Amino acid sequence: QPDPTLRPERQPEDADRALRPQTLDEFIGQREARANLKVFIESARRRGEAMDHTLFHGPPGLGKTTLAQIMARELGVGFRMTSGPVLAKAGDLAAILTNLEARDVLFIDEIHRLNPAVEEVLYPALEDFALDLVIGEGPAARTVRIELQPFTLVGATTRMGLLTTPLRDRFGIPTRLEFYTQDELHLIVTRAARLLGAPAADEGAREIARRARGTPRIAGRLLRRVVDFAIVEGDGTVTQEIADMALNRLGVDDMGLDQADRRYLRLIAESYAGGPVGIETLSAALSESRDSLEDVIEPYLLQKGLIQRTPRGRMLAQAAWTHLGLDAPRPQSELF
Ligand code: ADP
Repeated sequence: QPDPTLRPERQPEDADRALRPQTLDEFIGQREARANLKVFIESARRRGEAMDHTLFHGPPGLGKTTLAQIMARELGVGFRMTSGPVLAKAGDLAAILTNLEARDVLFIDEIHRLNPAVEEVLYPALEDFALDLVIGEGPAARTVRIELQPFTLVGATTRMGLLTTPLRDRFGIPTRLEFYTQDELHLIVTRAARLLGAPAADEGAREIARRARGTPRIAGRLLRRVVDFAIVEGDGTVTQEIADMALNRLGVDDMGLDQADRRYLRLIAESYAGGPVGIETLSAALSESRDSLEDVIEPYLLQKGLIQRTPRGRMLAQAAWTHLGLDAPRPQSELF
């Protein structure tokens, strides 16, 4: 089983809150998204209206929840949070919507996993700030419309492709979050170390940043583990040496890949001669769900240019062979 420390998904024991930036100015990276949000927030404030519905999409751990909370704070409104899988029945969502105050932010995580019956309730709510309730059954059934306070829905998804078109179309502000650069993660780790009260040498912070898979949540977790090693096996300071040793012990390599990433790459290399191989085949061979391969493992490998997606399946790029220390098979054409 992959070490949960290294997975970008939220874990129940996450101490994310302590490290969350509170304002847009404190939020590091995602420059374009941040600049746009600043304008939309300011405009909504000046108009005294609810901000337009906003959709954040991108891999887990990049700051979608954090940005939603910041939006509420900067708008000076309340924040309610729920998630697609939690809203089992239409009534669950109706109860939340009728309790919102004017201009509140409602955050729905994993919005691509909404049950269709719940999604139906959302459409008129987003469009007209109204709920259409069916009262009674059979021929006596009738619809009554309940007015809602205007509100802002902030949806988050790791899989834009799984959103239905009508839902996607109702977001005025779709925003894609990108993996963070090493410089941005360096700032994030330095700030987190300060908040945790852990002395960190510049090179120590940089080592963690370099190996955090482009993801602030992973950077935060790696920092905590490195601090443990620094306290027990060093003098408490996060030095480059301690960081390197700790990350190696955790199975994080110099590119930031963990065991699960390397297992994925090695499978394609060793069992499928570099591919192409279909996602379902990989999922069965690795005993990992297709969703977790597509949401969690592949985006970073694609971004690093280690794999390619082709119509016939996944293929290893030359960089992956090099990284694994293996020779790529010679193309067929050279053999004849
Ligand atoms: P998501 O909702 O996309 O899975 P979160 O918003 O929960 O991600 O962020 C995960 C963790 O990373 C949190 O601890 C948060 O404080 C931290 N984080 C995310 N983005 C940033 C950032 N730009 N600067 C500093 N910390 C960040």
